[in-house]
Amino acid sequence: MESPAKDQYGRLLKDLRISVIDQCNLRCTYCMPKEIFGPDYPFLSPNALLEFDEIERLATQFAQLGVNKIRLTGGEPLMRKNLDQLIAKLTAISGIDDIALTTNAIFLPRDAKKLKAAGLERVNISLDAIEDDVFKKINGRGVGTLPVLKGIEAAQTAGLGIKVNMVVKKGMNDSQIVPMARYFKNKGIILRFIEFMDVGNHNAWDLKNVISKQQIVNTIHKEMPLEAVEENYYGEVASRFQYKDGTGEIGVISSVTDSFCGTCTRIRLSADGKLYTCLFASEGYDIKQKLRDGIKDEELKEVLAALWGRRKDRYSDERGAIKHADRKKIEMSYIGG
Ligand code: SAM
Ligand code: SF4
Ligand code: SF4
Repeated sequence: MESPAKDQYGRLLKDLRISVIDQCNLRCTYCMPKEIFGPDYPFLSPNALLEFDEIERLATQFAQLGVNKIRLTGGEPLMRKNLDQLIAKLTAISGIDDIALTTNAIFLPRDAKKLKAAGLERVNISLDAIEDDVFKKINGRGVGTLPVLKGIEAAQTAGLGIKVNMVVKKGMNDSQIVPMARYFKNKGIILRFIEFMDVGNHNAWDLKNVISKQQIVNTIHKEMPLEAVEENYYGEVASRFQYKDGTGEIGVISSVTDSFCGTCTRIRLSADGKLYTCLFASEGYDIKQKLRDGIKDEELKEVLAALWGRRKDRYSDERGAIKHADRKKIEMSYIGG
């Protein structure tokens, strides 16, 4: 590896998050409200998407700048055809030692085995409620929990590592915090709670609807006592808590009430080939154009290093001081979380 890329605050470039498609088979209210993401929504056309060879080329250059972890996301990444072929290409890149996928799990019974065979190691599965009625209301498509639970089972059978992610929003699913914790305790699956975030411009975010990390932990602790544990590695985004009875752990991702920009090592690539140095960015850098204009590898690496080198993003740390009304932000379904 060459010298690792550092941004303006000395943060290293370690994680590459790749969105492979902006479409989804669900319409979660906090991410793709169906009133906005209806039949007329202008999703990316297939020829706007980066080709797998282009993604591989970028990932190879990123690996030389210090990236060792890749996560595939969407939209719903399993709606991108032949995703296993991309995983096989990424697995072969020298320096990449961890490949993961974030998914709603619905296609995992179909895909888990071939994804694992291609080199996928871990999946993060989104499930925001264990009660059918609550889940049906959240996902905007009336889908019950069974397809997701079957997806979890398929991932387990295929030998994939699993974490389950639950976004918590007041009035939407705070009633599910304890039932979800109870369900996944003892199952060897880490459940991670995510504070509802102000990503994009369409999810009607309001601080009043955020249930804080402290509230989530207190709620569970009352019934199933917890204690804090050390992070597994530098820059881990979830704070960890283990059950005092030794039956497992939970995590909480607290981008709103306890932000972690100081250790943020992540760059994001959209499905149409734009690079974003922050989840809350307004503008991306069009790297697809450079690729299609025939840029050579050496220059490509310089462009990527310079982009990271200019980076000053600290949105979550500065959230309180930012004027939100007229700030345009990218959508979660476009950039993938
Ligand atoms: N469709 C896949 C899924 O749901 O896992 C991958 C894409 S989804 C955009 C990635 C993650 O972002 C999911 O865990 C989802 O729950 C989370 N997410 C979406 N909107 C969010 C919001 N407003 N606040 C916090 N997390 C959000
Ligand atoms: Fe789709 Fe994932 Fe967004 Fe839900 S959170 S609408 S499953 S992209
Ligand atoms: Fe990283 Fe931006 Fe999130 Fe801060 S707000 S942790 S800089 S992605």
